Amino acid sequence: MSPPRAWAEISFSALKHNLDFIRSHSNQAVMAVLKAGAYGHGIEQIALALESENLAYFGVASVIEARKITQAGIQTPIYLLGPTFHEERAEVIENGWTPSISSLEEAEDFNRLASASKINVVHITLDTGMGRGGFLPAALDTAIDKITQLPNIKIEGIGSHLPSADEDRAFTLRQFATFEAAVKDKPFKYIHLSNSAGLLDYSSDSTNLVRPGLMLYGISPIASYQQMLQPVMTLKSRVSLIRTLPAGHGISYGRDAILKKDTRVATIGAGYGDGYPRAISNNGAEVFIRNQRCPVLGRVTMDQIMVDVSDLPLCESGDEVELFGSNILVSEIAEKAHTIAWEVLTGITPRVTRTYQ
Ligand SMILES: *Cc1c(COP(=O)(O)O)cnc(C)c1O
Repeated sequence: MSPPRAWAEISFSALKHNLDFIRSHSNQAVMAVLKAGAYGHGIEQIALALESENLAYFGVASVIEARKITQAGIQTPIYLLGPTFHEERAEVIENGWTPSISSLEEAEDFNRLASASKINVVHITLDTGMGRGGFLPAALDTAIDKITQLPNIKIEGIGSHLPSADEDRAFTLRQFATFEAAVKDKPFKYIHLSNSAGLLDYSSDSTNLVRPGLMLYGISPIASYQQMLQPVMTLKSRVSLIRTLPAGHGISYGRDAILKKDTRVATIGAGYGDGYPRAISNNGAEVFIRNQRCPVLGRVTMDQIMVDVSDLPLCESGDEVELFGSNILVSEIAEKAHTIAWEVLTGITPRVTRTYQ
C-alpha cells in the first residue's frame, strides 16, 4: 500500500507526559477535555489511551461525541460541557452521562426523563463572565434550592468557565473571587473553574477539579509553560517534487510570490484540504525538512504547498516534512494564520491519516 500524502503522528507518550505535568502542577482531579474529536487527535483513540488514568471525567461537546466513546467501551464518566437539546436528553439519562445545567427548564426536563431507579447526576453551570451558559450568580442559590428538590436528579458538582485566563489577569482574578464566593459552603463533590490557562496561571483552594484541553495535547496557551509540555500531534507530509526555477518565476495562485533569484523549489503533498491553513500564505511560515526550517513560498493550495529548499542541497523527493509538531509549534502556524492553535488542530481534516504510537 502506498504511504499517505499527509499524516498526523499522535504520540501517546507525549499525552501521558502532559497529563503527568497537569497533575503535578494542579494537584486536583482531572476532567480531560476530548471535544471536537479530541482537538483533532481522534476521540476514541485518545479516550482509550486515557481510560486507565483514573480521570474524574472525559469532557465532550455533544451527545454524538459521548456516544462515540461510550461505544468504544469507555467506563470513565462522561461530562457534557455545553447545553443539550430536549431530543438528546433521554439518551443522556439512558447512558448516565453528566450534563451541565444552565436553566431550571433543563433540570426539570432531565428530572422528568430520569426516574427513582435511574437517578442522574448533573452539574450546575455558573456564568461568572463567559456569557455562553449558566446561571448568573444572583440566581444561583434559588436555582440550587429548586433543583435539589427534584427527586430524579442529583447535583454532583458546579462549574464555571474562564473567557480570558490567558489575556486578562485582573478580570480573571475577579472571576475567581466571584466563583469562590458563590461555591462557598456548597456541599458538592466537584467544584471546577479552570481550563488550561486557568490551571497553569491561577490557583484556588475552593476548586478540586480542572478541565484541561489544549495543554493535554502539548500546547500551552501561555508561552512560558510551553517547555513543560510535549506536542502530541506532528503533522507530516513528503516532498513530491524538486525543481530549480529561474528568477522572475511566479509561485502558486495569484502569483504574489515572484522569485528574486534562481531557487530550488520543493513541492509538498499537503495543503488547506488537509487543514494546513491557507491564511498563512505569504506570511513568513516555515516547514521543517532535514532539521532545517524552509520558507513556504506563495499561497497554500488545496493539496500542495511549495517551499524554498535552496539551503538544503541534499533535499530530495520523498523527504519527510514536518508542517507542525515539536520543531514548528502549531501555535506558530496559528499565529501566522491569524488564528489560535485550537482552531488549527480541530481543523485537520479527515483525509489526514492519524497514526498512533
Ligand atoms: C473547551 C473547554 C475547556 C478546555 O479549554 P482549553 O483552553 O483547551 O484548556 C474547558 N472547559 C470548558 C467548559 C470548555 O468548553
